[in-house]
Amino acid sequence: MSFFSQRVSRIQPSPTISITAKAKELKQEGKKIIDFSAGEPDFDTPDNIKKAAIEAINNGQTKYTPVNGTKELNEAIIKKFKRENDLVFAPDEITVGCGGKQVIYNALVATIEKGDEIIIPAPFWVSYPDMALLVEGHPVVLDCSLENNFKINPQDLENKITNRTKWVILNSPSNPTGAFYSELELQNLAKILLKHPHVWVMCDDLYEHIIFDNLKFKNILQVDEKLRSRTFVVNGVSKAYAMTGWRLGYGAGPKNLIKEISKIQSQSTTHTSSISQAAAIEALKNSDEFINKNKKIFQERRDLIFSKLKDFSSLQVFLPQGSFYVYVCCNDLMGKKKDDGTEIKNDIDLSDYFLDEGVAVVPGEAFGCSNFFRISFATSNENIIEGCDKVVSACKKLK
Ligand code: GLU
Repeated sequence: MSFFSQRVSRIQPSPTISITAKAKELKQEGKKIIDFSAGEPDFDTPDNIKKAAIEAINNGQTKYTPVNGTKELNEAIIKKFKRENDLVFAPDEITVGCGGKQVIYNALVATIEKGDEIIIPAPFWVSYPDMALLVEGHPVVLDCSLENNFKINPQDLENKITNRTKWVILNSPSNPTGAFYSELELQNLAKILLKHPHVWVMCDDLYEHIIFDNLKFKNILQVDEKLRSRTFVVNGVSKAYAMTGWRLGYGAGPKNLIKEISKIQSQSTTHTSSISQAAAIEALKNSDEFINKNKKIFQERRDLIFSKLKDFSSLQVFLPQGSFYVYVCCNDLMGKKKDDGTEIKNDIDLSDYFLDEGVAVVPGEAFGCSNFFRISFATSNENIIEGCDKVVSACKKLK
């Protein structure tokens, strides 16, 4: 009998984290790699945020804080929800954790019994299904096709709901596709959800501020207040303020859920770093300029990458409306052969081949939608141009 749990044997290390680490390792060994795998902004954390953290250290804010974050951070989060989402939350409806990831994980630990179902629209962020498995839940994958712009068809959602369904996870803009739900699309999903009062909704809003074409962000709670008693809104500072390493995410939802999450957190990590909390307060209060500047930069990069790949017929590129990812269909390349005669059987083979050719991407299989790969354009224009050229010439070499 293994010393290690069945639970842990069911999951894999996060592929996005592993591939990014591998690309970094190869670079450190001196190999030239264009890194299209990293799901993090390439910008540095803004100076005002760093300064707030340094001041916190100098002022001795180096001790334990309340489990759900300092009072000041709690207030800054409440104000953010009011200002940006027109949502009103009370202090006991807010939790703060070590990244959005921990906040989501805590919510699943707090609610999932063995065999409970979590509906996960695919392509999905790699960690949702494995987190569900870790808490002995059952991830129910809801396929969202390219034909439907990688978005949920409301009828398909309804078909997946059973009496064991606990959660539906919504992620707009989406990692890995950049698909963005309009208000109307969210209303149509809300209509279905309102018919099934035992189902809770988790909206992962991490990419809220990275949206293009003058779109206005809304989550499902903003379009239908009636879901209030069973919606958990997750957000964090990683993507919007270039603060991935600070590990600070937060969630807002019914206070009975927050109370249980808080119990779990008090017995595990206690809270995220007091320094990161001080930095997050500044980020949430004073970042409009930073956000607007980056939105423009990311949109320019999106347009650049799209223009570089759209005319290459072996690849089909889906135009993202948000996030910093492009999801590329590589169906036409399956079954082709490399110079040495080895066959490209799937998107994992293709991604390995790209890495040998000097470009790191994440294979679509990791996101529950094969014959695709994800490119992160959180990198410079020079890298985008060079990386796309390498991808195209690597594809052209395949016979
Ligand atoms: N969310 C990012 C990504 O998808 C960062 C890595 C992770 O936590 O998955 O690449």
